[in-house]
Amino acid sequence: MNHDPNCIFCKIVEGKIPSKKVYEDEDVLAFHDIHPWAPVHFLLIPKEHVTSMAHVEERHAAVLGRIMTLVPKLAQQEGCRPYPEGGFRIVCNTGADGGQEVPHVHFHVIGGPRPWLKG
Ligand code: 5GP
Ligand code: ZN
Repeated sequence: MNHDPNCIFCKIVEGKIPSKKVYEDEDVLAFHDIHPWAPVHFLLIPKEHVTSMAHVEERHAAVLGRIMTLVPKLAQQEGCRPYPEGGFRIVCNTGADGGQEVPHVHFHVIGGPRPWLKG
């Protein structure tokens, strides 16, 4: 599998940097964001180094589909209430104008109870 030795998320995949894992299989890793924006905030990544959504190719379709189908299950596992009361956002920042800081494609899953939105 293709890893970039200078990539933070590849280092997390390889266990060289510790992370709080949410889910792992052969092709996908999910772990808590180190600076959460909400009660539930984890990242889903392909284990293979893919720089961004701008670098996605046809051969990545299966792993990206797998990531999307994992989102609702993992969101609920991590504390999101069921739909429709519960919910989450999936965010994929891409490139400098898209606010991407880590150049290994990743999907933020952000949700959980947000009391500051009420009233
Ligand atoms: P981006 O702005 O690239 O979409 O988001 C990168 C995210 O990765 C940020 O929310 C940041 O907090 C998170 N992050 C950066 N470095 C690490 C790390 O070493 N471990 C973990 N768990 N998250 C990280
Ligand atoms: Zn990487």
